[in-house]
Formats: sequence, structure tokens, C-alpha cells
Amino acid sequence: MRIFVITGAGVSAESGIPTFRGEDGYWRNFDPAKLATPEAFACDPKLVWQWYRERRQRIREAQPNAAHQAITKLAQYADEFLLVTQNVDDLHARAGVPAEKMVQIHGDIFVTRCSRCHFQFREEGRGGTPEPSVHCTQSGRLWSIAPTSAQREERSIAPTSAQREEIPMCPKCDELMRPGVVWFGEQLDPDKIDIVERFLARGHCDYAIVIGTTATFGYIIDWALRANASGGELIEVNPDETPLSTFATQRIHEPATIALPRLIDQICNP
Ligand code: NAD
Ligand code: ZN
Repeated sequence: MRIFVITGAGVSAESGIPTFRGEDGYWRNFDPAKLATPEAFACDPKLVWQWYRERRQRIREAQPNAAHQAITKLAQYADEFLLVTQNVDDLHARAGVPAEKMVQIHGDIFVTRCSRCHFQFREEGRGGTPEPSVHCTQSGRLWSIAPTSAQREERSIAPTSAQREEIPMCPKCDELMRPGVVWFGEQLDPDKIDIVERFLARGHCDYAIVIGTTATFGYIIDWALRANASGGELIEVNPDETPLSTFATQRIHEPATIALPRLIDQICNP
């Protein structure tokens, strides 16, 4: 059986990671769709880094949920499987989807890369570990607004080291470093596109399952429809309607942690 899965921020929402477009998506009154842009970084790199550090920390403290686990089960069950996730978190990986069966099409939030040369590194450390300090050459303010551990929704103003406020600089070329994610308006990694294209070109998918995404990007709709072109199932799991809904052979208007374990049991035990 060949199975193609696409996930978006909705699959991690029940792990406590806000989606961009949900009620909880705004960060200190900033619109994520405007912060996740090259323009925002050029204008205020410190602000953008603050946002990413807080998101990293929130992801470190989160755990994979029943939907991530159900997708892992499907990856083990299928003869051929590919997961394309738009999520920059690592919850699919931590739930056990092997790297060779997954494409993080919008990058990896734990990667820090130079905005000019090819230098990059990935933060390690999980489960409540703080954001590691980075080598910096720019000075920063002494105050940051960080979520408290006791009540994550409330934000307190707490002093922190100057280092944490700073912007990492490339040790090779001294240019600003940035998070290793794809921002709105940027190109996708061609090597990742190739992996998806080759999977789709190799043959018919019995199931294409699209979970927790607004499907606003043309390539997401295109891949989902192509996976379904020769007549398999196209299943959408999302409490809301999306541009893909009209093409779905099955629509499940439920949260992912409710829908996925049941759906995947049905697929794995026909
Ligand atoms: P989005 O924020 O645009 O939309 C989230 C979608 O998930 C909505 O359609 C919503 O109805 C649905 N949803 C909400 N709760 C759900 C649940 N419990 N179960 C199932 N569906 C649920 O997210 P997107 O379409 O992935 O696009 C936003 C962009 O933001 C992506 O590029 C992504 O990289 C990035 N992003 C990533 C994360 C993450 O890594 N966890 C979080 C926020 C945004
Ligand atoms: Zn560099």
C-alpha cells in the first residue's frame, strides 16, 4: 500500500503549539504571517529572533500527541510512505517517523543558518531545556518577555542575560544568522521538492491524507490532488473547510487527535 500524508500546524495544535491562523496564533499582537517574512527580519531581526526563541522553547516543552503517533503507525504499516509536513517543529520525528519517510518542506525551527553563506547548525536538547546561548557579536537589551513555565498563556516580563537577546552572527562570514525555516515569499528547497515529486511520480497512492492545514499554498493543493489523480482516497482531517475540501473523497471535521487514531486503525485493520 502507498500512502502520502500532508500535515500542517493543526496536527500540533493539541500539543499546545499555536497555529498561525488560530485564535492563539498572535504573539504580543504581532501577526505571524507578517513576522515570518524576510522583510520582518530585515527590519527587526531581534524581534524575529525573540519570537523564534520562544517558539523553540514551547516546542521543546511540548510532546507528540495521539495524531503524531497514529501517523507513525501508518508510516510503519505502509509499503511505501511519505509524510510532507509544513511544520517546523520536531514532533513527527519525536513520535518516531523515520527521517527518510518525511520531508519538512518549510524547514526546521531548530536549525540556525547564515543568511549569506552555507554555514548552519542544529540545536540539540529536548524536554524543557532552555534555548542554548549562541556566539554573538551584537549587543542587546536586558529585558525579554518570556512565557512563564507555570502558566504558559500568561507572559511575564523577566530580565535575562544580554546574550539571549542578541542575534547570532555567522562565524564564517560575520553576517546575521537566521532560523532555518522557509518564510512567506521564499523559495522551497529544490532537493525537498524532488523527494516529493519522485514519490508521486513512482505510482498510484492508495491514500492521500491531509491533516490540519489551511492548504493556502498552491503546491500543497497540487501535491494532494496529484497523489489522488488515479483514483485513491483523498481524506481531509480538519475541523474547518479548506480549498481542498471539495476535492476530498472523505472529510473528517474533527480535531486530529480524535480523528487520526480511529482512521488509521481502519486503514491498518481493513
Ligand atoms: P495554519 O495555521 O494556516 O492552519 C491551521 C489549520 O489547522 C487550520 O485549517 C485549522 O482549521 C486546522 N486545525 C486547528 N486545530 C486543529 C486540530 N486540532 N486538528 C486538525 N486541524 C486543526 O497552518 P498551516 O496550514 O500549516 O500553515 C501555516 C504555516 O505556518 C506553515 O508554513 C507552517 O510551517 C507554519 N507553522 C508551523 C507550526 C508548527 O511547526 N507546529 C505552527 C504554526 C505555523
Ligand atoms: Zn556566513
